[in-house]
Amino acid sequence: MSKSRSNETVCVQGGWNPQKGEPRILPIIQSTTFKYDTSEQMARLFDLEESGYFYSRLQNPTSDAVAAKITELEGGVAGMLTSSGQAASFFSIFNICSAGDHFVSSSTIYGGTYNLFAVTLKKMGIEVTFVDQNASAEEIARAIQPNTKLIFGESITNPGVQVLDIEKFANVAHEHGLPLIIDNTFPTPINFRPIEWGADIVMHSTTKYMDGHATSVGGAIVDSGNFDWNKYADKFPGLTQPDDSYHGLTYTKAFGKGAYITKAVVQLMRDLGAPQSPQNAFLTNIGIESLHLRMKQHCANAQKVAEYLQERKEVAWVQYPGLKGDKYYDLAQKYYPNGSCGVLAFGLKGGREESIAFMDKLKLISIVTHVADARSSVLHPASHSHRQLSDAQLREAGVPPDLIRFSAGIESADDIIADIEQAFDE
Ligand SMILES: *Cc1c(COP(=O)(O)O)cnc(C)c1O
Repeated sequence: MSKSRSNETVCVQGGWNPQKGEPRILPIIQSTTFKYDTSEQMARLFDLEESGYFYSRLQNPTSDAVAAKITELEGGVAGMLTSSGQAASFFSIFNICSAGDHFVSSSTIYGGTYNLFAVTLKKMGIEVTFVDQNASAEEIARAIQPNTKLIFGESITNPGVQVLDIEKFANVAHEHGLPLIIDNTFPTPINFRPIEWGADIVMHSTTKYMDGHATSVGGAIVDSGNFDWNKYADKFPGLTQPDDSYHGLTYTKAFGKGAYITKAVVQLMRDLGAPQSPQNAFLTNIGIESLHLRMKQHCANAQKVAEYLQERKEVAWVQYPGLKGDKYYDLAQKYYPNGSCGVLAFGLKGGREESIAFMDKLKLISIVTHVADARSSVLHPASHSHRQLSDAQLREAGVPPDLIRFSAGIESADDIIADIEQAFDE
């Protein structure tokens, strides 16, 4: 899709285009239900013969406006909001995989996603093969089986801040007739638009930078419209064969490029029910209105903190793709010329114990599970978010036991660094 206006403008004005006399600000349509005049009108909605709102478990005008904004930011053709990033990950996969199917994922992904893939989807009969973040094209291809339905990766990983070579993954996926799904939570479409590099589906935890103020858990899925489901019709029967739960309707026939998202809304949302509430969508939207401004400050602050940490004798290692000499510096230059994200990772000499003691001395910077909001924060994944993973799984997920995840907020870099300094010097 050609891009007609810049993301700065879309952040502020996208998704909601009020007509004469309508509210200038996206309204919160706090209504579960919507009125119709005749039984026939309502029946046509249930048959998907007409589009329209009928119940907010499926669709709600506030949420749809925000989904449209995120879709435009990513350069996609259709999008939806979900109640959380986890729901978005699950739906993005379950929309094309069912029991007996298989998919390939980069192993270096968010801990919650790793659990979903390795444990919960497995219980549902969907198998995953993890490949190394830095696997060669041949190694990725070797993981593909006859029943493989997709490849999944994170553009910049949480918490290790590793950069995925997305073109490599996209090429392997497309050579094998598979869509590539990218979790683009950390860079956001301000710094990176995966569809331009070959991703077919993009998903988000909007909980992070998009909301940006730590008020609302939410997720989003955007379809590029680029993947040709009909070309591999046998592989994707859910999209290309009649759906019995809609009187034999076939999504690709009835909805064309909107097939994937329509199916996820009318089938998965209907049956599994994980919509984002209109109130949360409203708050997410307010957050996105300043996303382009905040991302600049997050990235600038993270760069300064990373450079500062690199000079401290207490610090064993720092990982930030904006640092010269970082393992992912060259990939970051290619994919993220304007900055990557505000998160960095580091470890202290002495390891796990030192890292925990350091964190306890921080004052301005708080210990929270959260990441990627306006306030600077730290987390020790091995003892917090990832504590359910074994040491071997931690290593596979790219999370050394001494790793401190540092989320640079949008305060003054000087004050953030002063807080780190007093924690070291105390
Ligand atoms: C937080 C996060 C998720 C999960 O999102 P929730 O909104 O917490 O459910 C998925 N992927 C990434 C990269 C995340 O940071």
